[in-house]
Amino acid sequence: MLVRFWGVRGSIPSPPDEVQIKEQMLSLLEYASVKDISDTYNREQVLQDFLARRPVLVGGNTSCVELRTDGKIIIFDMGTGMRNLGRFLLNETAPDSLAEYHIFLSHTHWDHIQGFPFFLPAYLPQNRICFYSAHPDLRSRLELQQDPVFFPVKLENMASRMEFIQMEADCHIELGSLLIENRELYHPGKSFAYSVKKGNKKFVFATDSEYKDTTSSAAGKYVSFFRDADLLVFDAQYTFSEGIRKEDWGHSTSVAGVDLAVEAGVKRLALFHHEPENDDLKLNSMLTQALRYRRINYPDSGLEILLSYEGLEIEI
Ligand SMILES: [Zn+2]
Ligand SMILES: [Zn+2]
Repeated sequence: MLVRFWGVRGSIPSPPDEVQIKEQMLSLLEYASVKDISDTYNREQVLQDFLARRPVLVGGNTSCVELRTDGKIIIFDMGTGMRNLGRFLLNETAPDSLAEYHIFLSHTHWDHIQGFPFFLPAYLPQNRICFYSAHPDLRSRLELQQDPVFFPVKLENMASRMEFIQMEADCHIELGSLLIENRELYHPGKSFAYSVKKGNKKFVFATDSEYKDTTSSAAGKYVSFFRDADLLVFDAQYTFSEGIRKEDWGHSTSVAGVDLAVEAGVKRLALFHHEPENDDLKLNSMLTQALRYRRINYPDSGLEILLSYEGLEIEI
């Protein structure tokens, strides 16, 4: 399974502001000032070295993650990251070739659907798009987003063939050799996590959820869902203190992610759905805190923790 992250922010797209861009440029200038940048090759080399040392550039697009496995293209959520995914998909296929995309929706808050009107493969008649959702009226929700008062092209005028597959809550479906399950999460209007199993590999996408009680009895239904995942994508929007202050906002913390992931025997935890107010440095310090929390509280755990960022690819 190959996982690619196209949008990792929560709530609203949040590109870096002028202050953050200046700060990045100043750091680069400082780093480059003692290097040889006399020709293009050297400049590219210095830039690569700089990016390898600096905290990752997280990116400002909202939730969209691609999974390739078993010859299938599976997409989780349609946040603004979906625009770049669409361009990538068009570039890799011959102009008239048929393509099929399977899209699983956590829920329909803006940051999870806004990219779809800009998903170019949806405008091509030879393409087939299958939507999977446990929310009962997904088609009408997407039609509403593309009502002419909000967007100039109606859903029905996008030329691809669209199918809407209704899932029950806490159920599973089979897609070729893949077993895909969902699990209801605690979030305003409900959100759904998905797990994809192929042989002994397992991927879990679990965004937009609050875990108010992580004691083993209360968290059991989540722990069993995350059990032995090779990669768990997890809503870690808040710091620990924000999580307390923002009770019932429907989001979680890296501390809850570490607790649940260790309990479930997860191999890798990807912190996801980043708070739009937090810049890259802050997000990196949150990763450092999560790593420290795991080291102190679970010294024997082999859990890997990483910050999800646009362009990140993980093979599991
Ligand atoms: Zn969200
Ligand atoms: Zn939400």
